[in-house]
Amino acid sequence: MPSPIHVLNAIGGTWQEAESGQRMDNVGPKDGTVVATLPRSDGKDVEAAVIAAEAAQPAWGALPITDRADMLDRIADVMEANADALAELEALDTGKPWEVARHVDIDRCIRNFRFFAELGRTRPEQTFAMDDAMNYVLRKPVGVVGLISPWNLPLYLLTWKVAPALLMGNAIVAKPSEITPLTAHRFSELADEAGLPAGLLNVLHGLGPEVGQPIVEHPRITAISFTGGTATGRIVAATAAPMFKKLSLELGGKNATVILEDADLDTVVPGVVRAGFLNSGQICLCGSRVLIHASLYDAFLPRFVEAVEAFGIGPVISADHRDKVEGYLALALEEGGQILTGGTRGEGTGFHLTPAVIAGLSPDSRCATEEIFGPVVTVHTFQTEEEALAITNGTEYGLAGSVWTSDAERGRRFAAQMDTGMVWVNTWLHRDLRVPFGGVKHSGVGREGGEWSLGFFSEAVNICVADKA
Ligand code: NAD
Repeated sequence: MPSPIHVLNAIGGTWQEAESGQRMDNVGPKDGTVVATLPRSDGKDVEAAVIAAEAAQPAWGALPITDRADMLDRIADVMEANADALAELEALDTGKPWEVARHVDIDRCIRNFRFFAELGRTRPEQTFAMDDAMNYVLRKPVGVVGLISPWNLPLYLLTWKVAPALLMGNAIVAKPSEITPLTAHRFSELADEAGLPAGLLNVLHGLGPEVGQPIVEHPRITAISFTGGTATGRIVAATAAPMFKKLSLELGGKNATVILEDADLDTVVPGVVRAGFLNSGQICLCGSRVLIHASLYDAFLPRFVEAVEAFGIGPVISADHRDKVEGYLALALEEGGQILTGGTRGEGTGFHLTPAVIAGLSPDSRCATEEIFGPVVTVHTFQTEEEALAITNGTEYGLAGSVWTSDAERGRRFAAQMDTGMVWVNTWLHRDLRVPFGGVKHSGVGREGGEWSLGFFSEAVNICVADKA
């Protein structure tokens, strides 16, 4: 691997510098060194990518969906053959342990393609019979779609959009996070190696306001699928809405992990630690607020702290992000909390922070209601289910959460009252790719996953045919 790695834009099947010639650095979180440089693209590169996409899309969109599904499988094959090396790039870029990159991230990227390929082959045509006519629902491609993704699960989240967008016959202009461009760059090469026609997958690198914004503004990009922070989502929505673009927004969260008084702590402790700290707490679904019934608090807390201290995590993504997380730790003390463990910088020059547990905060404090997106969990107690629900639903976010109880029916009843798009009962991040994925309130608009993704990346056209001519 050359060092630093030279990342290029993929436009129309060629790998190019930004038209401006400008480049920028990409710093690795493990030791703070420059691991790659990337093009600092702008609106001119977006225009070139859109022209390439428009040239490629009609022939692709005209193929039978089964042919496109076969291409998705070929991409999965090539990714599988390169999985270890892709994991190495992801680990270098994000700082996550290689095993997590390989078995959480890259395995899932491959699954994204296999899953949508199979869905494309097996989904029945939708028809609605009337007494004297038949309705046929045709799924047309949207055309050229813009895909914008964040740094925490870089290729996992990008391919979660790329696979259904391609399956439904679209061409893509993608913009991965400038903090983690490596696997998207390599993926653009692997898709080409798999035989994906040139121009269908254009990948542009650079800063959000400089290249992401022109993608959202471009009049011939007619759908935007965005995953990232709520503040950026607000800008994307404000830009795209007056243009009547299709818009899918997967945004931030402040997810509650609720432990009811009948929960079994042997199951709860490892589950809650994983929910709080996997990927250094940098997963939108992480349970960053633990709500525990007061009767279990004394038994739970020392076991939880011990398990957190034993849970190995990588660094956080960047120096800026570490500053942000440390800012919240300082705020927690000002707000009257106690840091029971963690929150200290590790050895070396990387952006390490030990996993932190904070107790004693009011559930409506800033630390307990704002998204920190790092290895920090706050712990709160409750006496009744009503109180637990009020705390759970007391933030502007509504992405996900989990409930832990020995009574699954009770868990389901509680889950149904949570104002979130997704809830797990006695588990966390247990994903069936067919189910709807997304948040309510300020956590997003729309759903991805299975049929929901296919619906977003297509236009449903109804053709009503009368029985008699
Ligand atoms: P971010 O919003 O800073 O950036 C996301 C992407 O948007 C990046 O590629 C960035 O360059 C781009 N961008 C920035 N400004 C833009 C603009 N004006 N127009 C278009 N694009 C622009 O988010 P991040 O820091 O990369 O990711 C962390 C956030 O993502 C957290 O809030 C996390 O909760 C959220 N997230 C949500 C989900 C979900 O599925 N709901 C999944 C992962 C991460």
